[in-house]
Amino acid sequence: MYCEPLKLRELRGGELGTGKHHMKKSPKKSGTANKLPFLRRVISITGTGLLVLGALLVGLFAGARYTTALPLVGEEVAEAGEINSSEDASENTSASDSEAESLTEPETVSPLHPGFTLGASDFQELVRQGVSSMNSAAPEETREQIYEHIVSEPAIFLQYLQGMLNSPDPMLYALADKRHSLSSDYVPSDLVSLNEYQSTLVLNRNDLSLRSSIMPMVLAMVEAARLDGITLDFSSSYRSYEYQEGLFQRHVDNLGLEEAERVSARPGTSQHQLGTTMDFGSVTPAFAVHPAGLWLAEHAGDFGFSLSYPDGYEEITGYSYEPWHFRYIGDAAVSLQDRYFQGIQQYLLEFYHYTHEEFRTRLLP
Ligand SMILES: [Zn+2]
Repeated sequence: MYCEPLKLRELRGGELGTGKHHMKKSPKKSGTANKLPFLRRVISITGTGLLVLGALLVGLFAGARYTTALPLVGEEVAEAGEINSSEDASENTSASDSEAESLTEPETVSPLHPGFTLGASDFQELVRQGVSSMNSAAPEETREQIYEHIVSEPAIFLQYLQGMLNSPDPMLYALADKRHSLSSDYVPSDLVSLNEYQSTLVLNRNDLSLRSSIMPMVLAMVEAARLDGITLDFSSSYRSYEYQEGLFQRHVDNLGLEEAERVSARPGTSQHQLGTTMDFGSVTPAFAVHPAGLWLAEHAGDFGFSLSYPDGYEEITGYSYEPWHFRYIGDAAVSLQDRYFQGIQQYLLEFYHYTHEEFRTRLLP
């Protein structure tokens, strides 16, 4: 139900990876030039009269106009950075001069993606808003890099964004962090005990549960790891608001408030309350170099899972490195995160949080 369409996976780092082949200039047409020697021979052989010559001249004149007009269209459109291909250009061979001229004008109002009513300037403005709204700890340089990359690839960006906007489950992308709390009564409606999967999953506790909607991807990832000789063992999963309240208080009692804030979440600010987040293995820094930790770092994204608290981003995420903590966000979101947001889930989810309503108003049904 929450699996993204397969084509999104294919797009990710795939054939659209560079986008360069879409920028090819159309080959110049040379059909008329090739016909000339043949036609000259026809004239010299037959030596016939004005009628044939007249017809030939008319044909040549039309042909010359035709060959100069066509490559101009193809090149100017390509130089304007629009997607073009030789097939598109050959379809334009019947275009009259006036149509050809209109194609060379800047296409500021043309939609950037068929799924959205968004022209280039609107798009750039929205993206600018998004990067400006992101977590204040994000460096200015990072925002600029993210902005530049997105606006240089609008169609690819919008393709993935469409996948997020069309997801039937907005909670997959909900922010749950030190600045954005979940409500104390948010409980996912489809929690399922992992004990039901005891024959396939390795569980380090008997009270684990996750949302049933993500279980197909959980099981697929566990199986892929197993085929690589890796066991993924589950140490933590859904936590209720009340459970988090008690857990945070125990950390405060043991470590003091400041240290507790680094390693534990206040109630309402834990991703574990979402039911789409899980901790694997030892839940210690050593997990980073454990075979399961290494495998997850490389492959979790292939199944729509994202490392929430990467190394070196404590200022951004609010938490120290947690190589064991993964959240399911789906293929489209992982693709955006990796391609445009430097692999940082927090950047993507903040950008989405502050822009998705606006983008949705431009989304075609
Ligand atoms: Zn965790």
